[in-house]
Amino acid sequence: MIHQYDVVIVGAGLAGLRAAVETSQIARTAVLTKVYPSRSHSGAAQGGIAASLGNVDPEDNWEFHMFDTVKGSDYLGDQDAIEYMVKIAPETVIEMEHFGCPFSRTTDGKINQRKFGGHSLNFGEKAVCRSCFSTDYTGHVLLHTLYEQAIKRKVHFFPEFQALHLIVDDNGCQGVAAWDIRNGGLHIFQSRALLFATGGYGRAFKITSNAHANTGDGLALALRAGLPLEDMEFVQFHPTGLWQSGILVTEGARGEGGYLFNGERKRFMENYAPTLMELAPRDLVSRAEQTEIDQGRGIGGKDYVFIDVSHLGKEKIMARLPQITDIARNFAGVDPFKEPIPIQPTAHYSMGGIPADKNCHVWKTKDEQLPGMYAAGECSCISVHGANRLGTNSLLEAVTFGRIAGKSIIKDLPHLEWRELSQNAGRPAEGEVDKLLNSKGKEKTAKIRADLQESMMKRCAVFRNGKDLQAQLDYIKELQERYRYVVIEDKSLKFNTDLMEAIELGHLLDFSEVIVLGALEREECRGAHYRKDFEKDGKGIRDDVNWLKHTLAFRDPDGRIRLDYKPVVITRFQPMERKY
Ligand SMILES: Cc1cc2nc3c(=O)[nH]c(=O)nc-3n(C[C@H](O)[C@H](O)[C@H](O)COP(=O)(O)OP(=O)(O)OC[C@H]3O[C@@H](n4cnc5c(N)ncnc54)[C@H](O)[C@@H]3O)c2cc1C
Repeated sequence: MIHQYDVVIVGAGLAGLRAAVETSQIARTAVLTKVYPSRSHSGAAQGGIAASLGNVDPEDNWEFHMFDTVKGSDYLGDQDAIEYMVKIAPETVIEMEHFGCPFSRTTDGKINQRKFGGHSLNFGEKAVCRSCFSTDYTGHVLLHTLYEQAIKRKVHFFPEFQALHLIVDDNGCQGVAAWDIRNGGLHIFQSRALLFATGGYGRAFKITSNAHANTGDGLALALRAGLPLEDMEFVQFHPTGLWQSGILVTEGARGEGGYLFNGERKRFMENYAPTLMELAPRDLVSRAEQTEIDQGRGIGGKDYVFIDVSHLGKEKIMARLPQITDIARNFAGVDPFKEPIPIQPTAHYSMGGIPADKNCHVWKTKDEQLPGMYAAGECSCISVHGANRLGTNSLLEAVTFGRIAGKSIIKDLPHLEWRELSQNAGRPAEGEVDKLLNSKGKEKTAKIRADLQESMMKRCAVFRNGKDLQAQLDYIKELQERYRYVVIEDKSLKFNTDLMEAIELGHLLDFSEVIVLGALEREECRGAHYRKDFEKDGKGIRDDVNWLKHTLAFRDPDGRIRLDYKPVVITRFQPMERKY
């Protein structure tokens, strides 16, 4: 079946929905999403969305926000894009308020703001209240607000449609082939403008805060279509994932005054970031935790430490952190009013993605763009986060660049013509489905996936080294070979989750190779990428001479990954040592 829409958006998280709200004003817009829109991972965001509104700290301004973001990115973020995002952040958040988003309020009725890691006043002087929040349900309320707005504007939703193949030719992008999960069957969505807003890729790791849907599909589809991926080696580990499950305990818990302590009952951040303590950026806190654990100072010598909010009192916890109270009770069996919560670093955020400029146009090569294709949100790499994202900057990114993508599409549409669709447009996707349904192999999806996730956790997580990365690269090749023989038990077409998961596993394997290769080649420590074999006196070496550049990974027709690099855009802030 072929559908034609001026604008097709894949993904109904904040980025996709915000774009749809924009484009649907003048163009027929379809949104496909493999999970129901309100189950997109954006809805799990707890802590907040950054904007220098100055409602609590009146001195705050966009320049401080820009400095923090650039510094947090370990100077790998593109400063033109960062400046653009933080300057319009107040407008972006106020627009969400006017759409009806129920933010928490100050006593005088303004949007309330709280502290978050790495956000400061006056270029690093002291922590600032910059995160706008709605208790610890911020993502949930933003997502529902935008979903309502999209419905009001009569956006056509295709929930439970999973995109399988990107349709591109030499002249540009023509749409996407997707599987109807509910009824079975392939659909072609032909578009003049296609936006990928498919979210992150945390599911490549065993311990992750990410939803099951975060399998980086958009990235794998782009890579297979010959597009590059940028800076994939930068994967953020959040310091407060629940022990063993990885479910997130928001950074808001530290923003509100929670303490971290180790098996010796010490607030160990004293040794790592004496000024910002628990509110240092995530990469730093995760490494501190992992060091405590590796050196035997976890709780009872085990692989976790504690976060304690009990001293904040029941009233404040219930007012500001109700969700994590439930999470701690239901998933860790502890009562945060009385007891500390066991935590460990959890794979949380994907800094890498589909390279795009600050108007969300996707790059095909280093200097050529792909007409008719756009990317926004976590699947994109506009590089506002560089090597490490600051908390609350990614809800901001998703809403801001969703909006910008919508505006770019509206501007470009008059120049984007309908072109005749090739008769073979659906064939690659059909081929993939047929191959899996008819496979006579013996390999199981769940087993290969577990092997991948465990090995990524072991060899490519908070700390990395050349030997392990090489071993992991070889291992991924082995897993890719095993994947050729993967078998589907369920041969039906309707709601065949077996089939969908097998397809997602193919994606995980494809982009994990890119993560590991990028990490192996990048011989330095920067942001979330920390190589133990590039340390001096116990401190990671950041090598600005050789590595102040973005990685671009291309998949050649023979299937091999080729790396290339491109310069970082530096405008206001020259690279400095990061001290907290
Ligand atoms: C637990 C948690 C808490 C967080 N808290 C915060 C926070 O407090 N502040 C902050 O700034 N950031 C936070 N983040 C990060 C932030 O939530 C995300 O980066 C952001 O919401 C991503 O939005 P998105 O629109 O790009 O993608 P998502 O919301 O992940 O949406 C992706 C969409 O793509 C669809 N999709 C994916 N693949 C396919 C496919 N093959 N076919 C069809 N559809 C597809 C999905 O169905 C979904 O609708 C948090 C993240 C997590 C995991």
